[in-house]
Amino acid sequence: MSGIDKSRRTFLKGSAAALAALPLSTLLHHGSVRAESRAEDGHAHDYVNDAADASDHARFEEGQLCENCVFWGEGVENGWGRCTHPDFDDVLVRAEGWCSVYAPAS
Ligand code: SF4
Repeated sequence: MSGIDKSRRTFLKGSAAALAALPLSTLLHHGSVRAESRAEDGHAHDYVNDAADASDHARFEEGQLCENCVFWGEGVENGWGRCTHPDFDDVLVRAEGWCSVYAPAS
């Protein structure tokens, strides 16, 4: 094996190890992997998992739910789904949840 082949192999091994060592948060931040954790109350914009808990919020109106919000993305399972608002891109939100940036889908 030539010296160049050996150094190339060493370089490739080092690169693979460096990629494997990238923190998950880096991959999440760049959108390569989407988080599946569920939002907790207060995640952002006064978010609550149960819209009824927002009934005393100044912006809340009856019938407003994540599932009929313009930011509601695809459902995932068990009443949870994706929100396309950038402040929720790292969590799933509940279909029956609500937050103060709610906007009607139509
Ligand atoms: S932006 Fe809409 S879908 Fe996203 S958390 Fe707020 S109310 Fe729910």
